[in-house]
Amino acid sequence: MLQQAGALLPEAEPYSEAWLQGIMDALCDLSSKDALTGLVNRRSFEMALAREVDRVARSGEPALLLVLDIDHFKAVNDTYGHAAGDLVIQAVAGALNQVVRPMDTVARVGGEEFAIVLPKCAAGFGATVAERLRERVAELRIEIASGQTLAVTVSLGGAFAPQWVRSSSLLWMERADRQLYRAKAEGRNRACLENQVDSLVSAEEKGMLFAVTQQESE
Ligand code: GH3
Ligand code: MG
Ligand code: MG
Repeated sequence: MLQQAGALLPEAEPYSEAWLQGIMDALCDLSSKDALTGLVNRRSFEMALAREVDRVARSGEPALLLVLDIDHFKAVNDTYGHAAGDLVIQAVAGALNQVVRPMDTVARVGGEEFAIVLPKCAAGFGATVAERLRERVAELRIEIASGQTLAVTVSLGGAFAPQWVRSSSLLWMERADRQLYRAKAEGRNRACLENQVDSLVSAEEKGMLFAVTQQESE
């Protein structure tokens, strides 16, 4: 790993400040990025999500979490091989990154599963951005080693963070996952977003809020 990090710095004098800084930057990249796609990895995404939960609780600004899963991906691997599957994952990752804003975080959170957190995303914009992501992936024509061209689709689930409430990133993720499950069940290649009215504050979150208020009054 150190060799890989060092290889990024052929110009820097060994053990100089620039060399050490470069090693640290490279190690940081290795621990936070997914090797196949260069996207943020799951661990790093979970930290970003927790930071966003804090920010939304403090500022009340809307934030959207989207989870995406490639449809029938197992069939790609089974028909064209694992290497072709990897190319598909890379192409989808690149397409997702093109659609979002620089302030959004796109992560690969599982084999063919991705998640995106979009800070300051107005409620009315959620469906539009999810649809744009879905379309961009569906438009991809991915050339594999055999010269064949593949097309894939994704299903998306989305949920907004509850505003003004200290919730948890786990609950937020569960909400988005439920919508992804719905998108799959309703036929795939579609986006389902949680109804904003339903997402105000769940019973679990009320419990958490109540616990905090009680602690403070003690
Ligand atoms: P669904 O539409 O319900 O999501 O069906 P699916 O076939 O996409 O879902 P499933 O979870 O059955 O398949 C996911 C597959 O992804 C299974 C696994 O072999 C494959 N996979 C996981 N990680 C990688 C990877 O890094 N590279 C490749 N090529 N395949 C992977
Ligand atoms: Mg999956
Ligand atoms: Mg899948």
